[in-house]
Amino acid sequence: MIIAEANLRQVVSQMLVRAGSSAYEAEVVTDHLVRANLTGHDSHGVGMLPTYMRNLNRGILKPNQHPELAKDSGSIMMYDGLEGYGQVQAKEAMQGAIARAKETSLVLMTLRNSHHIGRIGTYGEQAIAAGLISIHFVNVVDHGPTVAPYGGTKARFVTNPVCVAIPGTAKTGAIVLDMATSKIALGKARVAKNKGVPVPDGSVIDAEGYPTNNPNVLFEEPQGSLLPFGDYKGTGLALVCEILAGALSGGGTIQPGNKRRGGTTNNMFTVLLKPDALVDHSYLSHEIDELVRYVKDTPPQAETGPVKIAGEPEKAAIAERSQEGIPLEQSTWEQIVEAAESIGFSQAEINHVLAS
Ligand code: NAD
Repeated sequence: MIIAEANLRQVVSQMLVRAGSSAYEAEVVTDHLVRANLTGHDSHGVGMLPTYMRNLNRGILKPNQHPELAKDSGSIMMYDGLEGYGQVQAKEAMQGAIARAKETSLVLMTLRNSHHIGRIGTYGEQAIAAGLISIHFVNVVDHGPTVAPYGGTKARFVTNPVCVAIPGTAKTGAIVLDMATSKIALGKARVAKNKGVPVPDGSVIDAEGYPTNNPNVLFEEPQGSLLPFGDYKGTGLALVCEILAGALSGGGTIQPGNKRRGGTTNNMFTVLLKPDALVDHSYLSHEIDELVRYVKDTPPQAETGPVKIAGEPEKAAIAERSQEGIPLEQSTWEQIVEAAESIGFSQAEINHVLAS
């Protein structure tokens, strides 16, 4: 089915308010989830709502929290997300760090103990809107591992994303590299399972370590695993995400001595930088423009071309989906409706919102 952006926003925000969020929180979370769908990242969009409702019911997601500044020493800021909706915790922690970076030019901000913060590019875009460069390393805890390390047959990491965001120039759009360190995000495997389609070659192994295209192996016992992107290089990045985001934030790593309630807790390590503290704005703009022009100026490969810059696929998806609506596969929609019904928001009420 295809739902217009405005209608989807209405359903999601009303559902979040029913689930105990303030109007403000519902708006922040809704905006994040719907925008993730608009950018084409359905894995981090409204399909996360059943997980959120389940974690709310279990008391491991707490509505209406604001991040607590646990340590503040000039350019180092450490926040605790208090198990609140990650979209609010990370947005507000970024707001604090951005205000500081405008004074100090450089901030290292950590956020621990936050419920799922979603699409990390959102926080890169927040930095870009303030004219800053941002670098984010993230880990996922309170959750069994889903990604096998290169050379191993059993999962030892989650999908530990990395994001680098660089403001655009008058000629060149912003660069937002935002990627899981697994070959595909777990949510993309969930979407493939719900659609009944195979996952790409080289992205998943079964419980014995054999390659498979069947996404179901990730959601059954004995459990298969996602594979790292870039073989051992992806495993290396996932490992440093654990140490930077998990250990240095104080939120913990995926090692099994830490809690695993089956929740989705994110820890984030963020560096914010004011670029003109290093080089002139005009010099940086010229270098970015010439570099991007050079990188794109190559005859396209038949299968993968033409060359795109990180962030361009998301911009193209926004342009298309904000016009044509957001496609949701039937089983994802059914799971959302079931989650809504679990908090007393009936199918009839949802249909009423969609029709209005
Ligand atoms: P992806 O593979 O679709 O894209 C990764 C990056 O590559 C993006 O910056 C994109 O712009 C760029 N890209 C895509 N196609 C390209 C092309 N043809 N040429 C050049 N660049 C291209 O993304 P992913 O790795 O599947 O991650 C999906 C989302 O999942 C991200 O937003 C990430 O933050 C999120 N995520 C979140 C968590 C969490 O715990 N909160 C965990 C894992 C992933």
